[in-house]
Amino acid sequence: MGTSFPNSKALFLFSLQVLFTASFSSPSAAFANETLSQCLISHSQASYPITSAIYTTANSSYPTVLQSYIRNLRFNTSDTPKPILILTALHESHVQAAIICARKLSVQMKIRSGGHDYEGISYVSISSPFFILDMLNFRSVEVDIEAETAWVQAGATLGEVYYGITAKSKVHGFPAGVCPTVGVGGHFSGGGYGNMMRKYGLSVDNIVDARIINVNGEILDRGSMGEDLFWAIRGGGGASFGVVLAYKINLVRVPETVTVFLVRRTSEQNVTEVVYKWEQVAPKLHEDLFIRLTMDVVNGTNAGEKTIRATFRALFLGDAQRLLSLMSISFPELGLRSSDCIEMSWVESTLYWTDFPIGTPVDALLSRTPQVLTHLKRKSDYGKKIIPKDGLELIWRRMIELERPMLTFNPYGGKMGEIPATNTPFPHRAGNLWKMQYATNWDEDGDEAAQHYIELTRKLYRYMTPFVSKNPREAFLNYRDLDLGINHNGDESYEEGKVYGVKYFKGNFNRLVEIKTKVDPGNFFRNEQSIPVLPR
Ligand SMILES: Cc1cc2nc3c(=O)[nH]c(=O)nc-3n(C[C@H](O)[C@H](O)[C@H](O)COP(=O)(O)OP(=O)(O)OC[C@H]3O[C@@H](n4cnc5c(N)ncnc54)[C@H](O)[C@@H]3O)c2cc1C
Repeated sequence: MGTSFPNSKALFLFSLQVLFTASFSSPSAAFANETLSQCLISHSQASYPITSAIYTTANSSYPTVLQSYIRNLRFNTSDTPKPILILTALHESHVQAAIICARKLSVQMKIRSGGHDYEGISYVSISSPFFILDMLNFRSVEVDIEAETAWVQAGATLGEVYYGITAKSKVHGFPAGVCPTVGVGGHFSGGGYGNMMRKYGLSVDNIVDARIINVNGEILDRGSMGEDLFWAIRGGGGASFGVVLAYKINLVRVPETVTVFLVRRTSEQNVTEVVYKWEQVAPKLHEDLFIRLTMDVVNGTNAGEKTIRATFRALFLGDAQRLLSLMSISFPELGLRSSDCIEMSWVESTLYWTDFPIGTPVDALLSRTPQVLTHLKRKSDYGKKIIPKDGLELIWRRMIELERPMLTFNPYGGKMGEIPATNTPFPHRAGNLWKMQYATNWDEDGDEAAQHYIELTRKLYRYMTPFVSKNPREAFLNYRDLDLGINHNGDESYEEGKVYGVKYFKGNFNRLVEIKTKVDPGNFFRNEQSIPVLPR
């Protein structure tokens, strides 16, 4: 079982048995003898047969269907709790049937689109029995270039979105994440940021309509769901409010030529000075320029010695000449040379940013298989003040001690500082210099290895306490971290939800709770970190 879920395996299996028995053999349950698949079949329309979309554990394809969207190998073990069924919905009526049957049979429903949740909560559950509503077949991308908009379904990947836009126009793009296999359903509903956020904000800042299915099985658009619910599903996490079918997005303008670079500096190359300067300038640079900074530990020049390495990876919405002149004024300390700069189209830059070799055909964006699949743990923080040089050097020493966790800084400023914190549930706007991500990847299977690497990540997070936001220590919903709290969705649900809720949403948490209480008072749409309803 995934180590982030605190219950022991034995306790989990025991409760699974108890709950399963309670749900399916309780004499009071109206549909006691009806299995989930029978229920789904009886609630689907003959014109849209559902049978071929149902994968029970007896189906030989069940393991493949389950595993094909597990993006964290930590949750792909024989001990990981398994769904009793996976429904790869083919039609909206199948989603409606899933909601009706899950409610009738008291089976927990997990919604999965791209499966990239860092804690696997779209396909693992601490409550049981559970099943997965898999949205992978809802993947159309309909671009209207005249109107500069697109309807994108929840199961589409970001790569499919970028590909769909570029097939229609070389001067349009969309500000979303840098990993093309991430799914729209989780990414957009959780806030979605990428390397154009300083110019255009987040994905959610560019969403103009949506289609969702609510707890009553009704299909709603922006007009019929109302502005409150429309606000909530743009950063508050879709899975607390309904099943997102699709979002309508405003496309943004990109130049025909953009420029990228990747420059590295180690301790032997004045890393502290350069990073210190990056801190001063990165959040204030021209909004066409985004320079991400990643710190990791590598071998030093002397045998057995470890050193810290800074990687500066940039996207500039313009040509190399303009970039060089901008850098020579704003950030000469990096020593950017024209040979470091590579001009390409915006869509090619999306491949570059995810480490595809230069020249990779653009249709690589359509691949749903991630380039790397590994065990991982992620945590997040926000920085609001410059870390002094001695602070940086302390961090380097701590990182060398821990060796494995990496630290990434994504600069804010630009548009991110202009959009009011209450415009969407995502509250981390003006006043933030950067968002940080702690990342540890490992190849070894097993619980012992997982505990070891997770603890290294937690240690770095603890060491960073003096340098990050406080009261609350803020976090990014899309960087799901169950260390921040777990909701057992019982009597303490509101109190439990508040613990992680204020970190993810700050003052917007209360509005999310009010909306949740209105649209889903029975807390059907719940998970380990969902928005709770107000206590009765
Ligand atoms: C390799 C990698 C790179 C990443 N890069 C970025 C990045 O650049 N920027 C960024 O912001 N984030 C990034 N993330 C985080 C990513 O945005 C989130 O994990 C996001 O939630 C993933 O969406 P998904 O649909 O793939 O995930 P899923 O695991 O399918 O879903 C995540 C959550 O959303 C819910 N959900 C999914 N679909 C729906 C739906 N249709 N309706 C309602 N609820 C739904 C799930 O139930 C779950 O709670 C990255 C993650 C990974 C693994």
